[in-house]
Formats: sequence, structure tokens, C-alpha cells
Amino acid sequence: MSGKKEKREKRLQEISLLRTIPYSDHQRWWSEETIAVVTGANRGIGFEIARQLAGHGLTVVLTSRDTGVGIEAARVLKEGGFNVDVHQLDILDAESVSEFAKWIKEKYGGLDILINNAGVNYNLGSGNSAEFAKQVIETNYYGTKNMIKTMIPLMRPSAAGARIVNVSSRLGKLNGRRSRIEDEALREKLSNLETLSEELIDNMVSKFLQQVEDNTWQSGGWPQKFTDYAVSKLAVNLYSVLMANQLAERPEGGKIYINCYCPGWVRTAMTGWSGNISAEHAADTGVWLALLPNKEVTGKLFAERRELKL
Ligand code: NDP
Repeated sequence: MSGKKEKREKRLQEISLLRTIPYSDHQRWWSEETIAVVTGANRGIGFEIARQLAGHGLTVVLTSRDTGVGIEAARVLKEGGFNVDVHQLDILDAESVSEFAKWIKEKYGGLDILINNAGVNYNLGSGNSAEFAKQVIETNYYGTKNMIKTMIPLMRPSAAGARIVNVSSRLGKLNGRRSRIEDEALREKLSNLETLSEELIDNMVSKFLQQVEDNTWQSGGWPQKFTDYAVSKLAVNLYSVLMANQLAERPEGGKIYINCYCPGWVRTAMTGWSGNISAEHAADTGVWLALLPNKEVTGKLFAERRELKL
């Protein structure tokens, strides 16, 4: 086993051990009254996050763009004795998002935790293309952003603060060694809270999509690996930093914490089941972030329960 692989295996074992330690009463800020919404929860990592959150005693709203598939997934969890509700939600369909918002407000008075898990990727193995760039950017960035914007007003005030967790990727690191945008001046602007803005992020993805349309993206200085996916997750990571900064202004009791994490290379449909870790392990950091007793953590990117430099 290579040194890097060995280190990762060791970390995964450590996490398995950490997961056997129950949260103490003073750490458990949640109860079955706590409402956690998971997008794209009918399968893969989303389903696992829903299962683990429900296992911690929260009420989980499993959402799925296909109603029947969602009901079936929720049935499996309900049969396990978990508190699980289910609702249709396609994060790309404005009507579906607004219908969901109305439903969650009426039924639960809002939500406490939002897990933005729904996402797409069309690159497999070492393949790289931007053939599906529009769909990838629309879903992973704009869909996630729209969910955040729509759900924030519905997040219930509490002493522990509401939480948003975005299932993202380390491929979307601003200063990643192998996968980053080459334009240094843009990187500088994006890494500085004084210059980072929603407009700057939107302009970056628009420029990328324009170059895809013009077929000039290959020489555009975009990430070399899984390009469209990496750009979409970079946008999510940056938008989370921006939002964390804005949400920090909220008064105590109305705080919302927002973080991103990379689940690793996971054995799900997205990787054609070629990943090297299970969905169960992959869900762990997301669940840990959602339940974190330490409220001060916000605007960060994590992997395997450790902060990564964006
Ligand atoms: P899967 O393909 O197994 O699951 C993706 C989920 O997202 C499905 O439930 C899918 O629904 C849903 N989804 C896609 N588009 C929409 C939409 N418009 N509205 C609502 N739901 C939608 O992938 P994973 O479980 O592996 O991926 C989950 C998340 O983890 C994604 O955000 C992904 O980018 C991220 N991730 C995954 C990695 C991996 O190695 N697998 C690595 C890094 C990040 P449906 O069943 O209807 O298609």
C-alpha cells in the first residue's frame, strides 16, 4: 500500500472509531423535533446521510425528484424504525422547489438542517469533457444556490443555529495543486472576501459556459480534471464562503452555519461504482458537520472530518 493510501485507510479507521463514541447529552442540541432536509436522498450518499441523521434521532425529510422512488427509499428507512418523511423535489424545477417550500413551511414551520446533496457528473475514470457542462453547472451550482436562497427564510431560529451542508468536492478547490483555474488575478479576487461576490462567481461560470459553447474551453485555463464538474463545485465552495460571511451578521438565536465537504471517491452510480469508499463512510463528514456541537464552524471545506484549505 502506498504511503498516501495507508494514511487515508488509517484516517477512515479513526473515523470508524469516532463514530462509535455516542454524543453526550450536552452535545446533543437536536431531538426528533429537529427537521433535516436532504436533497437527492433516494440513493447514494444522500440516502446514507438521511439514514444516519435519522439514526441520530432527528426527523429527516427525504426528497427525491421522482416521487415513487422517493417513497420507496423512505419506506426502507421507516421500516428500520426511523422518523422519515418524504417529498418530491427537483432542484432544477422552480415550481417543484416552491411547492416544497410551501409544504415544509405548512407541515413543520420550516427546517433546521439543509443538506444539499443532489448533483450530477458525466465524467468517468480519467475522462474529461464539458459536453454536459450546462447541466452540470445548472444542477450543482445554480440548483444548490437556489435551494439555499429559498430555504434560508424558512430556517427555524434556535440557540444551536441552523445548518447548511453542501456535498461538494475537493476538485473545486481554488488553490488545488492539480485542479485549479489558471487565471491568477481571478483566483486572487475569488480568494479575498473584499472582492468575492455572487456576481464574480456567476461571471466565472458564465465565462466557462460561453467558452464551452464557442468550443474554446480547452485552452481557457480551467481545471484539468473533470473540468465542468470542478468548475461547478468551485462555484459552490465559493458561494458557501460568501454566504457564511453574510449569515454571520445574523443575531444570536437566528444564526445559520454553512459548510461544504468532499465525500471522497465513492462507490455510487455517479462513479459507476468505481470509487474506493462506501456511501456509508462518504456520508460521515456531512452528518458530523450537520450535528457539530461547535457552532463557530462556518464557510469551510472539509474532508474526512478535517478542514481543507480552499
Ligand atoms: P448519485 O448519482 O448516486 O446520486 C445523485 C443524487 O442526486 C440522486 O438522488 C439524483 O436523483 C439526485 N439529483 C440529480 N439531479 C437532481 C435534481 N435536479 N433534483 C433533485 N435531485 C437530483 O451520486 P452520489 O450519491 O455519488 O452523489 C451525491 C453528491 O455527492 C453529489 O453532489 C456529488 O457531486 C457529490 N460527490 C460525489 C462523489 C463520488 O465519488 N460519488 C465525489 C464528490 C462529490 P435521481 O436518482 O433522480 O437521478
